[in-house]
Amino acid sequence: MEADEEGKKLAQQLLARGQAAMTREERRARQRSLDSLGCPSFPALLQENNVSPMVRGTAKILQLNIGLYCNQACGHCHVESSPLRTEMMDRATAERCLHLAREASGGALSTLDITGGAPELNSQFRYLVSGARVMGLEVIDRCNLTVLLEPGQEDLVPFLANEGVRIVASLPCYTIENVDEQRGRGVFERSIQGLKMLNAAGYGKEGSGLILDLVYNPNGIFLAPPQAKLQEAYKQELQDLFGISFNSLFCLNNMPIKRYADYLLRQGKLGEYLELLVNSFNPAAAEGVMCRDTVNVSWDGRVYDCDFNQQLEMGIRLPGKPANSVAERSTIARQ
Ligand code: SF4
Repeated sequence: MEADEEGKKLAQQLLARGQAAMTREERRARQRSLDSLGCPSFPALLQENNVSPMVRGTAKILQLNIGLYCNQACGHCHVESSPLRTEMMDRATAERCLHLAREASGGALSTLDITGGAPELNSQFRYLVSGARVMGLEVIDRCNLTVLLEPGQEDLVPFLANEGVRIVASLPCYTIENVDEQRGRGVFERSIQGLKMLNAAGYGKEGSGLILDLVYNPNGIFLAPPQAKLQEAYKQELQDLFGISFNSLFCLNNMPIKRYADYLLRQGKLGEYLELLVNSFNPAAAEGVMCRDTVNVSWDGRVYDCDFNQQLEMGIRLPGKPANSVAERSTIARQ
């Protein structure tokens, strides 16, 4: 098929040209695929479904992607993290983020959401956690679970528990085959060990106040099943097989960018996946998208609407000036 041929050619170009060009090419490929579907523009789709316009409100969550280094290199990673990445937030940027969080914490800002990479392996992680907790903010750690077993991280679980950090951890299945296929050999077994360590510290246990949530994402070209039903199965299986408990399961779908876009292109399925997304548009989900109340900051201090736009280098633009870094902003509370 012509589309398949085009997809293969594009995948080769991406490989040859590298990261920056890939973003431009990805955009072009997606646009071509969307054009061929003849779907309406996103604002038109919102209007048609009576969804409120995508307008930013006051920031309630400050999300920091503090670095791209990770001890894993998962097949669907939307930030293309791996042990080879070296990008890391420095102390000056972390200080500036805490300064802006402090300024906004008297208002609507309630949460510091820390992600990566494996954020715990960044030298600023504990500084940011403790700084935000002193301000009374809820802190979320986007944890890959295996990081808890990394050399030098023996005191990580007690640190997280003492600070009352909420853990949101990736576990795309309760079977070894699916997890290891998506996240690498041995990841399932180490993830289970990590979950047991968290449970032993009180995480996911009733009355402890220590929240442990899990995240599912599909291991293939399909969308996540209904969340409540899958949560029930996860709770049952993890308890029966390993004695593990947790609070809630969140079902996410894979964004067709970066490694997942590469995968779709290699399979010649980008158009098919976009069609699936368009046909599954959920007006209720559109009301709750993160860019309505979240500000996202990259390891080098640039400001975005969300982690996905960050990876596509689509920064928030302020009226009249293109600058969008935390160093240049006087507030993250309002846009
Ligand atoms: S653990 Fe998370 S950040 Fe690390 S490679 Fe996997 S998906 Fe990416």
